[in-house]
Amino acid sequence: MLQCARCSALVRSRSQVVPGAGEMPAAVAFVGLAPGRLGGDRTGLPFSGDRSGELLRRMILHANLSGVFITNVVRCNPRDSRGRNRDPNPREISNCRRHLKAELTLAQPRIVVGLGRIAWRELAGRNAPFSPRQPSPIQVGGLHLFPMYHPAYVIRGAYSEGAYADDFDRLADLLRTTADG
Ligand code: URA
Repeated sequence: MLQCARCSALVRSRSQVVPGAGEMPAAVAFVGLAPGRLGGDRTGLPFSGDRSGELLRRMILHANLSGVFITNVVRCNPRDSRGRNRDPNPREISNCRRHLKAELTLAQPRIVVGLGRIAWRELAGRNAPFSPRQPSPIQVGGLHLFPMYHPAYVIRGAYSEGAYADDFDRLADLLRTTADG
Protein backbone atom coordinates (compact mmCIF):
# COMPACT_ATOMS: atom_id res chain seq x y z
CA MET A 1 0.00 0.00 0.00
CA LEU A 2 2.78 2.44 0.92
CA GLN A 3 4.36 1.95 -2.51
CA CYS A 4 1.10 2.17 -4.47
CA ALA A 5 1.47 4.10 -7.74
CA ARG A 6 -1.83 3.30 -9.45
CA CYS A 7 -2.98 6.95 -9.61
CA SER A 8 -0.39 9.10 -11.37
CA ALA A 9 -1.99 12.39 -10.26
CA LEU A 10 -2.02 11.27 -6.63
CA VAL A 11 1.58 10.05 -6.77
CA ARG A 12 2.46 13.64 -7.79
CA SER A 13 0.18 15.42 -5.29
CA ARG A 14 0.75 13.34 -2.16
CA SER A 15 3.50 13.87 0.41
CA GLN A 16 2.98 10.34 1.65
CA VAL A 17 0.52 7.45 1.54
CA VAL A 18 -1.77 7.57 4.58
CA PRO A 19 -3.02 4.11 5.58
CA GLY A 20 -5.79 3.53 8.09
CA ALA A 21 -4.80 3.54 11.74
CA GLY A 22 -6.24 2.49 15.05
CA GLU A 23 -7.20 -0.58 16.97
CA MET A 24 -7.39 -4.07 15.53
CA PRO A 25 -9.66 -5.85 15.97
CA ALA A 26 -11.89 -2.79 15.98
CA ALA A 27 -15.36 -2.21 17.34
CA VAL A 28 -15.98 0.60 14.87
CA ALA A 29 -14.23 1.85 11.72
CA PHE A 30 -14.73 5.39 10.44
CA VAL A 31 -14.25 5.83 6.70
CA GLY A 32 -13.66 9.38 5.46
CA LEU A 33 -12.79 10.69 2.04
CA ALA A 34 -9.04 11.26 1.65
CA PRO A 35 -6.19 12.71 3.74
CA GLY A 36 -6.29 16.50 3.85
CA ARG A 37 -3.51 18.77 2.64
CA LEU A 38 -3.09 20.27 6.12
CA GLY A 39 -3.87 17.03 7.94
CA GLY A 40 -2.99 13.43 7.11
CA ASP A 41 -0.85 14.40 4.13
CA ARG A 42 1.53 16.07 6.62
CA THR A 43 1.09 13.85 9.68
CA GLY A 44 0.76 10.42 8.05
CA LEU A 45 -2.34 9.67 10.17
CA PRO A 46 -5.91 9.92 8.83
CA PHE A 47 -8.05 12.64 10.40
CA SER A 48 -5.24 14.29 12.34
CA GLY A 49 -3.73 17.76 12.31
CA ASP A 50 -6.68 19.50 10.66
CA ARG A 51 -10.11 20.74 11.71
CA SER A 52 -12.00 17.71 10.44
CA GLY A 53 -9.69 15.43 12.38
CA GLU A 54 -9.97 17.54 15.50
CA LEU A 55 -13.79 17.43 15.37
CA LEU A 56 -13.97 13.69 14.63
CA ARG A 57 -11.61 12.86 17.48
CA ARG A 58 -13.47 15.18 19.87
CA MET A 59 -16.75 13.41 19.01
CA ILE A 60 -15.15 10.00 19.55
CA LEU A 61 -14.08 11.15 23.02
CA HIS A 62 -17.49 12.69 23.69
CA ALA A 63 -19.23 9.37 22.97
CA ASN A 64 -16.52 7.48 24.86
CA LEU A 65 -15.96 5.11 21.93
CA SER A 66 -13.22 2.53 22.20
CA GLY A 67 -11.83 0.07 19.68
CA VAL A 68 -11.73 2.72 16.97
CA PHE A 69 -10.10 2.34 13.55
CA ILE A 70 -9.96 5.37 11.21
CA THR A 71 -9.36 5.33 7.49
CA ASN A 72 -10.39 6.88 4.18
CA VAL A 73 -11.81 5.83 0.82
CA VAL A 74 -8.56 7.06 -0.77
CA ARG A 75 -5.11 6.99 0.88
CA CYS A 76 -3.41 9.89 -0.93
CA ASN A 77 -4.20 13.61 -0.81
CA PRO A 78 -5.95 14.75 -4.03
CA ARG A 79 -5.26 18.37 -5.05
CA ASP A 80 -6.61 20.61 -7.78
CA SER A 81 -4.44 22.68 -10.12
CA ARG A 82 -4.20 25.41 -7.48
CA GLY A 83 -2.98 22.99 -4.82
CA ARG A 84 -6.28 22.89 -2.92
CA ASN A 85 -7.94 19.72 -1.61
CA ARG A 86 -10.34 18.19 -4.12
CA ASP A 87 -12.62 15.16 -3.97
CA PRO A 88 -11.09 11.94 -5.29
CA ASN A 89 -12.47 10.96 -8.70
CA PRO A 90 -14.21 7.62 -9.44
CA ARG A 91 -11.05 6.09 -10.94
CA GLU A 92 -9.02 7.01 -7.84
CA ILE A 93 -11.73 5.58 -5.60
CA SER A 94 -11.81 2.31 -7.51
CA ASN A 95 -7.97 2.12 -7.57
CA CYS A 96 -7.94 2.39 -3.76
CA ARG A 97 -10.78 -0.10 -3.18
CA ARG A 98 -8.40 -3.02 -2.66
CA HIS A 99 -6.64 -1.12 0.14
CA LEU A 100 -9.89 -0.22 1.91
CA LYS A 101 -11.06 -3.83 1.66
CA ALA A 102 -7.75 -5.12 3.01
CA GLU A 103 -7.88 -2.74 5.97
CA LEU A 104 -11.47 -3.64 6.85
CA THR A 105 -10.67 -7.34 6.53
CA LEU A 106 -7.80 -6.90 8.99
CA ALA A 107 -9.66 -4.60 11.39
CA GLN A 108 -12.89 -6.69 11.46
CA PRO A 109 -15.03 -3.82 12.83
CA ARG A 110 -18.52 -4.61 14.09
CA ILE A 111 -19.78 -1.35 12.58
CA VAL A 112 -18.36 0.64 9.64
CA VAL A 113 -19.33 4.33 9.57
CA GLY A 114 -19.41 6.04 6.18
CA LEU A 115 -18.58 9.71 6.80
CA GLY A 116 -20.35 11.68 4.09
CA ARG A 117 -22.09 10.70 0.89
CA ILE A 118 -19.02 9.66 -1.12
CA ALA A 119 -17.74 7.29 1.56
CA TRP A 120 -21.26 6.00 2.14
CA ARG A 121 -21.76 5.16 -1.53
CA GLU A 122 -18.38 3.50 -1.74
CA LEU A 123 -19.42 1.22 1.14
CA ALA A 124 -23.15 0.81 0.57
CA GLY A 125 -23.38 0.95 -3.21
CA ARG A 126 -23.43 3.61 -5.91
CA ASN A 127 -27.12 4.43 -5.60
CA ALA A 128 -27.60 3.88 -1.89
CA PRO A 129 -29.61 6.70 -0.27
CA PHE A 130 -27.52 8.65 2.24
CA SER A 131 -29.75 9.42 5.25
CA PRO A 132 -27.64 10.40 8.26
CA ARG A 133 -30.58 12.27 9.87
CA GLN A 134 -32.59 9.05 10.25
CA PRO A 135 -29.67 6.66 10.39
CA SER A 136 -30.30 2.97 10.49
CA PRO A 137 -27.59 0.38 10.12
CA ILE A 138 -27.64 -1.72 6.95
CA GLN A 139 -25.77 -4.86 6.07
CA VAL A 140 -23.87 -4.98 2.77
CA GLY A 141 -21.30 -7.59 1.75
CA GLY A 142 -20.86 -8.84 5.31
CA LEU A 143 -20.33 -5.33 6.75
CA HIS A 144 -22.71 -3.52 9.10
CA LEU A 145 -22.80 0.05 7.82
CA PHE A 146 -23.95 3.24 9.54
CA PRO A 147 -24.22 6.64 7.77
CA MET A 148 -22.97 9.88 9.37
CA TYR A 149 -22.15 13.35 8.10
CA HIS A 150 -18.54 14.12 7.28
CA PRO A 151 -17.05 16.42 9.97
CA ALA A 152 -16.33 19.05 7.27
CA TYR A 153 -20.11 19.40 6.80
CA VAL A 154 -20.46 20.36 10.47
CA ILE A 155 -17.45 22.69 10.31
CA ARG A 156 -19.10 24.53 7.37
CA GLY A 157 -22.13 25.10 9.61
CA ALA A 158 -24.51 22.93 7.56
CA TYR A 159 -25.29 20.77 10.62
CA SER A 160 -25.00 21.64 14.30
CA GLU A 161 -22.28 20.27 16.50
CA GLY A 162 -24.91 19.41 19.14
CA ALA A 163 -26.85 17.26 16.67
CA TYR A 164 -23.59 15.67 15.55
CA ALA A 165 -22.76 14.82 19.18
CA ASP A 166 -26.23 13.20 19.48
CA ASP A 167 -25.45 11.11 16.37
CA PHE A 168 -22.26 9.87 18.03
CA ASP A 169 -24.25 8.97 21.16
CA ARG A 170 -26.62 6.98 18.93
CA LEU A 171 -23.64 5.21 17.40
CA ALA A 172 -22.34 4.39 20.91
CA ASP A 173 -25.77 2.90 21.78
CA LEU A 174 -25.68 0.81 18.62
CA LEU A 175 -22.19 -0.44 19.47
CA ARG A 176 -23.36 -1.42 22.94
CA THR A 177 -26.23 -3.44 21.48
CA THR A 178 -23.89 -5.24 19.07
CA ALA A 179 -21.20 -6.02 21.67
CA ASP A 180 -20.51 -9.70 22.26
CA GLY A 181 -21.73 -11.16 25.52
N1 URA B 1 -8.91 14.04 6.87
C1 URA B 1 -9.06 12.74 6.48
O1 URA B 1 -8.23 11.88 6.80
N2 URA B 1 -10.13 12.43 5.75
C2 URA B 1 -11.06 13.30 5.40
O2 URA B 1 -12.03 12.91 4.75
C3 URA B 1 -10.89 14.63 5.81
C4 URA B 1 -9.82 14.97 6.54
